[in-house]
Amino acid sequence: MEYPFNGHKPNDYEQLVLDAYTSGLSMKKVSTQHGISIGNLYHLLIPYNAGPRPRSRTGADNHAWKGGKVSLANAIRTCYQYRVWHRDVYIQAKHTCAFCGIIPNKHNKAILQCDHIVPLHQILDNHSIITLEQAKDCNALWDISNGRILCKDCHKKTSTYGCNRKKKSYL
Ligand SMILES: [Zn+2]
Repeated sequence: MEYPFNGHKPNDYEQLVLDAYTSGLSMKKVSTQHGISIGNLYHLLIPYNAGPRPRSRTGADNHAWKGGKVSLANAIRTCYQYRVWHRDVYIQAKHTCAFCGIIPNKHNKAILQCDHIVPLHQILDNHSIITLEQAKDCNALWDISNGRILCKDCHKKTSTYGCNRKKKSYL
């Protein structure tokens, strides 16, 4: 499986981090040296096809997937199409929080997270999606304008963040 984005041009900071990683340093070392979290480093590396490969085939790509709503959301979140969407949202946002504009660096140690503006479960409900195949064909799910990047602090203030979210039986 290849990540098709080798034409993306890194900025100076990204180039520095890329050089450090491709010189053979571990992700942990690069993370410490350049003050970037492992998660942000992972997202930075993916477009350049330089990141680690997914550790295991889970969810959608796993032949053992048995369906069901919990599994459907997990299957979507672990399928290749989702990773591409996720990566494109980060690129679109230029690794910047949409609310406060923070860009992670070694001083602020901000952590960026990818957020659905219209929540995933709501899109699934709106389009009566019950299978992964239907999900893959649903354009609304893969619209990068429905994605935004928030720092963890701003993300926590949204109504759809983790415990703020009205409990859904399947998400
Ligand atoms: Zn923020």
